[in-house]
Amino acid sequence: MSATFKTLDELDLKNKRVLLRADLNVPVADGKVTDATRIERLVPTIREIVKYDSKVILLSHFGRPKGKVDPQFSLEQVCEAVANQTGHPVGFVATDWVDMADAQKAIESAPPGSVLILENTRFHPGEETNDLELAKRMASLGDVYVNDAFSAAHRAHASTEALAHLLPAAAGLAMQAELEALESGLGKPKKPVVAIVGGAKVSSKIDLLENLVTRVDGLVIGGGMANTFLHAQGYGVGKSLCEKDLADTARRIMDKAIDSGCAIILPIDAVVAWHFKADTPTRLYGVDAIDNDGMILDIGPSSIERITGAIDDAHTVVWNGPMGAFEMNPFDAGTVAIAKHVAKRTHDGKLVSVAGGGDTLSALAHAGVKDDFTYVSTAGGAFLEWMEGKPLPGVEALKK
Ligand code: AMP
Repeated sequence: MSATFKTLDELDLKNKRVLLRADLNVPVADGKVTDATRIERLVPTIREIVKYDSKVILLSHFGRPKGKVDPQFSLEQVCEAVANQTGHPVGFVATDWVDMADAQKAIESAPPGSVLILENTRFHPGEETNDLELAKRMASLGDVYVNDAFSAAHRAHASTEALAHLLPAAAGLAMQAELEALESGLGKPKKPVVAIVGGAKVSSKIDLLENLVTRVDGLVIGGGMANTFLHAQGYGVGKSLCEKDLADTARRIMDKAIDSGCAIILPIDAVVAWHFKADTPTRLYGVDAIDNDGMILDIGPSSIERITGAIDDAHTVVWNGPMGAFEMNPFDAGTVAIAKHVAKRTHDGKLVSVAGGGDTLSALAHAGVKDDFTYVSTAGGAFLEWMEGKPLPGVEALKK
């Protein structure tokens, strides 16, 4: 179906042992999965595979066991959640990833249509070093390989990269949906494209900003990172979070934007407080008059109007990072207003909206619009590296 990467419908799935690389690295508290979003997204691929009387053999990392067998990080604890989401019994296959005999036997004796979860791939140090010998032992357990773990695709690990070259390989349905959504966001987007970038610091998003200014028509910068840009333009930002040593970097990004014909949209007013806490007194200032003792903790109403205007002119919006310290009332107002506006334009059929990366998901959930964007990625690092324009090894390995 896709011109660039192989998809599930291009594999012979009849009566096969299908190694399905998933991201089962879900939050767990007291032995229970607390957010099953990533598991939910695997269900269509699992259903599709069992339809062909094939065995689904799930491979995933979980936490950071640092290459050692550590029961605390056993994937056995997510089996119940996978069974609940798929409505299908789920078996667990223990392995140390050195001696594969028991795993071979368990897979062999499982009936067609079984769903099995193999032990944490990171129990062996070769996983994170993309070790070919480990990948060969993984490959010995299956006939075909399907990768549905976009969120792990920025890492060249044995189960995401080396293994993909050893068996007939394709993207699963979740990976395919994610790649197609991202393609509509930045690959071949309907123009004009506006990117909205926020969050705490410029330092963690330099590559992302550098890439975006060459690709989009408008770049909205909000959140704490906007303060560094305001400082670089000569505005006082009081006691706000600000990386003053990155003023030159900010100026370089603004110059590159001018060269590329990308409009940079910075806040023009700000909600200022004198304490970094919820429900503390605030005042609204223009960015040319920020109080010396105050902290910018959100964008103001004129900025919101400016940004929603830019969104109205766009056909595509790509978003990463909140516009303010959204975890605390009332500094969520800017993020919520922008999120609701993007959701409404999307709902009205005027906008393709793609969002992702770390706090963005919780910010959109807080605004109550997580399901109203065209696509919201649950990937953190992989989404950011995609926004940075970097090739993702786990996706590259699936290319035709
Ligand atoms: P990031 O992980 O880089 O996307 O940053 C997200 C964090 O940035 C959130 O925890 C926000 O509270 C924080 N943040 C956003 N705007 C500000 C601001 N103006 N001052 C301090 N922190 C902020």
